[in-house]
Amino acid sequence: MIDGNNSAEKRVWPAIGNGLKCKCPKCGKGWLFHHYLEQHDQCAVCGEPLAYYKAGLFLPFVVITVVIHLVAIVMLDIELRGQSNPIFYLYVLIPLTLVVSLAILPSAKGAIVGLMWAKGWSDEQDR
Ligand SMILES: [Zn+2]
Repeated sequence: MIDGNNSAEKRVWPAIGNGLKCKCPKCGKGWLFHHYLEQHDQCAVCGEPLAYYKAGLFLPFVVITVVIHLVAIVMLDIELRGQSNPIFYLYVLIPLTLVVSLAILPSAKGAIVGLMWAKGWSDEQDR
């Protein structure tokens, strides 16, 4: 746990919302990432240390879960309309899966970091 004395002040949903916007979970103003998914060591605006929060394997779990549900809905709709075509799957659904996965990756990582920040779940034991 990163801090026990002020964890009650950290509200979970605003932190997740800030993370979804790829912003600092504490202030919501500083950017959480530089480049695509590289996390800043600390917030440039409020100085909150961010390097201790690692999404790890929870990130692919969240992304895969979201993308599978979206693609399954599209596939089910296509099949129920009787318009299934193997070429459609090859040229539309596979690229759609890749694009959606890459598009939601930063927001999913930000939301996970926001949740971890609000709950105090970090790799750092004694800060
Ligand atoms: Zn900040």
